[in-house]
Amino acid sequence: MDRGNTRENPLRTSSQYVKGVGPARQKLLSRLGISTVEDLVMHVPRGYFDRSDLVPIAAAAPGKTATVRGEVIAVHPRRLGPRRSMLTAAIDDGTGALRLVFFNQPYLERAFRTGTRVIASGEVRLYRGEKQITAPEWERTGEGGEDDLIHAGRIVPVYPLTAGISQRMMRRIVREALDRCEGAIEENLPRHLLDELGLPGREEAIRQVHYPDDMVRHHEAMRRMKFEEVFFLHLLIHERRMKIRSGAPRPAVAPPHILTERYIEGLPFTLTAAQRRVLGEITADVESPEGLARLLQGDVGSGKTVVAVASMLLAVGAGYQAALMVPTEILAHQHAQRIGPALEAIGVRSALLIGSMSAAEKERIHALIADGAVDVVVGTHTLIQEGIRFRQLGLAVIDEQHRFGVRQRAELGRGDVLPHFLVMTATPIPRSLAQTVYGDLELSMIDELPAPRRVRTELVPESRIDEVYREVRRRLGGGAQAFILYPLVEESERIDLKSATAEFERLGREVFPDMPIGLLHGRMTFEEKARAVDLFREGAIRALVTTTVIEVGVDIPGASILLINHPERFGLAQLHQLRGRVGRGGNEGICYLLIGDEAGAQGEERLRMFAGTDDGFRVAEIDLRLRGPGEIWGTRQSGYPTFRLVNPLADRELVERSWEESARLLENDPLLGSPANEVVRRYYREYYAPRMAVADIG
Ligand code: ADP
Ligand code: MG
Repeated sequence: MDRGNTRENPLRTSSQYVKGVGPARQKLLSRLGISTVEDLVMHVPRGYFDRSDLVPIAAAAPGKTATVRGEVIAVHPRRLGPRRSMLTAAIDDGTGALRLVFFNQPYLERAFRTGTRVIASGEVRLYRGEKQITAPEWERTGEGGEDDLIHAGRIVPVYPLTAGISQRMMRRIVREALDRCEGAIEENLPRHLLDELGLPGREEAIRQVHYPDDMVRHHEAMRRMKFEEVFFLHLLIHERRMKIRSGAPRPAVAPPHILTERYIEGLPFTLTAAQRRVLGEITADVESPEGLARLLQGDVGSGKTVVAVASMLLAVGAGYQAALMVPTEILAHQHAQRIGPALEAIGVRSALLIGSMSAAEKERIHALIADGAVDVVVGTHTLIQEGIRFRQLGLAVIDEQHRFGVRQRAELGRGDVLPHFLVMTATPIPRSLAQTVYGDLELSMIDELPAPRRVRTELVPESRIDEVYREVRRRLGGGAQAFILYPLVEESERIDLKSATAEFERLGREVFPDMPIGLLHGRMTFEEKARAVDLFREGAIRALVTTTVIEVGVDIPGASILLINHPERFGLAQLHQLRGRVGRGGNEGICYLLIGDEAGAQGEERLRMFAGTDDGFRVAEIDLRLRGPGEIWGTRQSGYPTFRLVNPLADRELVERSWEESARLLENDPLLGSPANEVVRRYYREYYAPRMAVADIG
């Protein structure tokens, strides 16, 4: 992946060679998106322990935040209900004792053995006359000695982790990485910009981000790192815009658009006014010299697919090929099933291409695509992988854009002719975010649903689960169909997978013994998945126990019930997508959110706000404000250019400034050739841009 001079620059060396890492831990680090020393030093803490205020327990004042250190002298686990528990650990440091209290983390019992030495930080309160800290930041301390120096006695970083890597381990590894590049972290922003914005230099900022001297310097350091993060993305966007404006010829498309017209005439319904308007905007784009580069937003069920097909036919009518890319194989399959016959009816040849096909089958389709023997290809990201050559790709539609990032789009545009682009999303993107991430795209919106969708969203405490099951059974008996959903936070979390599978068995045995139910999760083969979805669509399965694989675009008109377990684990925009799966086909849908104690008061409040609105934009705003963009669209694995640090709403000013400054810089110095921009050019050309262009999607 690296194209820089790895030998000269310690930042570009593999993180595997950092002391304390090695091949096994490197695998774990990869899950956090860490592959180089640079990634390690850019692994920004999610919080800090202010251990500069380490106090004797006797001196810890109630009502104040303090850090204390002591030895565990007693541990009391208690059950409060079926899924509720409380753990109290008393610690003593010779000057006094204090209780640490944890809710619903029974597994902590193993961590707090008597005699264990821990350090804990949080607000000290008095409870029945005794000092306690509820839900403290805490960790075990070493057997004393050297590494306590980086773990205590100062402001100490708390890092995002992954299973298998402890906080102390991560701290040591990052520390090691920082030491390795002492004096070698090169500046990548021009001097005058730093001065104007009052930002610290790069090396200084990185050090302060990990080990701040005080919170003021920390704040400045974070400002710099945020600016840097958004600045290079903006450079990339501006540069592509310039290329589009100045250069590569766009596929020529001119009226009359006979295929598009015939397709629309053949539909069993008439287009909504919003669909017509958007198609008009798209048509004007493809006829113009600048071409089409547009982001189409439209709520779940607003009818984006029809617009996509009509758009592709504009290009096909002009003698080009068109491609529709979707994030999952199930969705590709569903689209091909539906679109194929309509296209065939007007003499347009289409094909499906997905990763799970046999090598021979794939090769056959590749050949058809290369020969121009198919006009429309529907597929997953396999479409942009090496080895696939279109004879003449004129227009590409990327559905459910939030799963595709800037780099995937860059891949598609690799040929001599830059195809027209339409990206579609049901996850509403507030304008401020759209500009910062999709600044190279025009915006369109389908703000009308063809049929009113009616979904009631109900919060139900877990204690009332039996009532919900009874109601669901009653409705299923009356012919309804249900999705029963379990979260799968990360592919690697097998525990969650087990829970969907185990729950499927339990539900079949105990709750729905007399009903055919099915199972659908990400680890099944494509054939198994497609079969489950088909059986469900046909009605042979009444309830589908599933994970978020149904999130995007799966269209089952008969499904009207959605029961979501652990809704607090989902982003609101994601819940909104999920909720869009039911209440189609004219019947009223119901979405149950099962609330357990894990949700917490804040989580419950967030879900209450969600239940109170059916407006996707409102939902996205709430979500963005509360959780930041990374949580909405998933993590970096998805290829979405997630900001690690920037929250486009909260950091709006910085983002806007970066947008202007990056544009100005390129305008004055398009090749970044001036001595003042030398530092920008080196980082951007040798490191940033190549990394963004390489599609490292599995
Ligand atoms: P989304 O925008 O979520 O991708 P789809 O394109 O899947 O929505 O459309 C949802 C459903 O609405 C599909 O069954 C589609 O056939 C139907 N549909 C689309 N446009 C119209 C319309 N103008 N009138 C009636 N039904 C429509
Ligand atoms: Mg869709």
